[in-house]
Amino acid sequence: MSDLKFCQGPACHTYFTQDRVKGPQGHKTNQTRRRSSMYYGNGNFCDMRCQNDWFDKYGTQAVNYFGRTTEAKHLTEDNAWRKDYEWRSDIDEPHRHYFLNTITKERRPLTEAQYNDTSYTINTGE
Ligand SMILES: [Zn+2]
Repeated sequence: MSDLKFCQGPACHTYFTQDRVKGPQGHKTNQTRRRSSMYYGNGNFCDMRCQNDWFDKYGTQAVNYFGRTTEAKHLTEDNAWRKDYEWRSDIDEPHRHYFLNTITKERRPLTEAQYNDTSYTINTGE
């Protein structure tokens, strides 16, 4: 039970569903959802409504805290690399993963591990 986590929606406990009603007989209350895994907002919210509630309440503070965009970013050849892959239906042949430069159309091969590593990039600058 220890790896259950709470939905971070600030109003989760105010929505009426049977699975939110918890507690001993006669003392049941509507409670914040707890689950071992959630599918919204990087696993922090039980549903889209709770994710939106959080953003409505804290979104502007979060943007200001982490850094508001104050000038236009520019797409250049140096930061135009995107990961993509070609699907292979033949079970003996793996999918072909690659970087694609969306400006020059150059392709560079990637391993599947590099493709899946969300921090792996060859982009320079923003
Ligand atoms: Zn929730």
